[in-house]
Amino acid sequence: MIPFDFVYYRPDTLKEAAELYSQLSGAGKRPVYYGGGSELLSMARTGNLRFGAVIDLKGIPQCTALDEAGDNVIFGASLTLAEIIASKKFPLLEKTAGRIADHTMQNKITLGGNLMSAIIYREAILPLLLTDAGVISFGVNGLKSNSIHTVFNEKLQLPQGELLVQTAVSKKMALAPYFHEKKTKNEKIDYPLLTAAAIIADGALRIAFSGLAPYPFRDIGAEKILADLNYPFPKRAELFAEAFSGVIQNNSIASAEYRRFILKNTVAGILEAVKKADIPCLC
Ligand SMILES: Cc1cc2nc3c(=O)[nH]c(=O)nc-3n(C[C@H](O)[C@H](O)[C@H](O)COP(=O)(O)OP(=O)(O)OC[C@H]3O[C@@H](n4cnc5c(N)ncnc54)[C@H](O)[C@@H]3O)c2cc1C
Repeated sequence: MIPFDFVYYRPDTLKEAAELYSQLSGAGKRPVYYGGGSELLSMARTGNLRFGAVIDLKGIPQCTALDEAGDNVIFGASLTLAEIIASKKFPLLEKTAGRIADHTMQNKITLGGNLMSAIIYREAILPLLLTDAGVISFGVNGLKSNSIHTVFNEKLQLPQGELLVQTAVSKKMALAPYFHEKKTKNEKIDYPLLTAAAIIADGALRIAFSGLAPYPFRDIGAEKILADLNYPFPKRAELFAEAFSGVIQNNSIASAEYRRFILKNTVAGILEAVKKADIPCLC
């Protein structure tokens, strides 16, 4: 049971949603934007979050768009993971979303909810970081479009009251050769000890992680190690893993040493897989 009352709003336009947020906020109602509600409602039930109003974005056409616009594929923030999986428009995002929670929850969890989630994993960000996605948001100053690399720092840094509308991925990037490995401690459906997502773009291997650090990340500088032809794959994987020594989590789920071991093996495995697939790549 949720131990407090709140008002539910379902605006039809972006402007209405942002204005509602601003008005409710000004009136001290502590509004929240609402995707699938899975995190908001469970945090409310456990007493970890209080809000006076939810603004459900699923009635706004831009937020549920699944379109092609010029060279890009557009994914609305209120699409469920199940809708994204069924669309077959971005195989790596499909694979990543397909390993978040179970089928029932994938019908509820939205792309925006996962990206803006309070949990540390936010796995759906990985394919977007690898493909230099565009992030479209809406706030008091209207619609904004930014590169993910401008607005992502451990999480999407949207100003208070701004809502995530869409992400845009180039069709070419969306269809790039990809690799995805999710390692969990026990069950297949669980939070990741380590999820590694990778693509080959512009002849180079790009790789991003969730579970390794207390936030998802991609380190573009460290990717150069993967292309260092002076070393065999296992050595490159070892040097790559060493580059993250300072950020690897050490907690009751797994030690930093164990995570580093998994990281090294996973990266070496991906390098081998690239070679086996005979994909042109400087690695
Ligand atoms: C059983 C289970 C297993 C899970 N396993 C994983 C896992 O393995 N990996 C993983 O990454 N995640 C996992 N999750 C976490 C899950 O992905 C998040 O809890 C979920 O993504 C929240 O999505 P939602 O659409 O329900 O968001 P909501 O609960 O609606 O919202 C979550 C947050 O996002 C904000 N928000 C939502 N939409 C927008 C928007 N358009 N603009 C701005 N802010 C917005 C909300 O205000 C809130 O702060 C799991 C969750 C469950 C329940």
